[in-house]
Amino acid sequence: MNHTPQPTTITGTEMAYLHICRRKLWLFHHGIRPENENTAVQIGRHIGESTFKRTHKEIKLGDIGVVDWAELPHGVIHETKKAKCPMQADIAQVRYYLWWMRSHGIGVERAIIHYPKQKRTTEIVWDGTMDEQVEADLTSARNIVAQPAPPEFQPLKWCKRCAYAEFCMA
Ligand code: SF4
Repeated sequence: MNHTPQPTTITGTEMAYLHICRRKLWLFHHGIRPENENTAVQIGRHIGESTFKRTHKEIKLGDIGVVDWAELPHGVIHETKKAKCPMQADIAQVRYYLWWMRSHGIGVERAIIHYPKQKRTTEIVWDGTMDEQVEADLTSARNIVAQPAPPEFQPLKWCKRCAYAEFCMA
């Protein structure tokens, strides 16, 4: 019998949190949820739910998350975001989705991130460096969530829009 422990699952949302705030990553991973999501979070979800109603077709990626919709014959996945997260976080999340799909034999090459509020899109094209970037992100995220306590609170410029703001600043 093989008792090799499975590596900790890191979701796409957590991958984004790695690039937003390590404390947020730890809190979320350990099931600590703010009692009431703040308005920005609720608005963001509303945009995600309503923008692509007609073409919406989510694709579940195992335990790591859900792609909003995809054009698989063209190797493209789509994500909808409210902006105001660091761009690097959005990129890290879709890069992780591309990596996961490719490693499961799905030949995706590009991700398009939609920012409906700003009426703009960003395109991420898979390249040869991304395997290493995703693996480095996974190592960092797993190291953080393996700690017995969350990283210390350090104010960040997006704290005021964070659902954990009250918790962190109490
Ligand atoms: S309030 Fe600030 S420090 Fe606390 S989890 Fe959110 S972003 Fe991180």
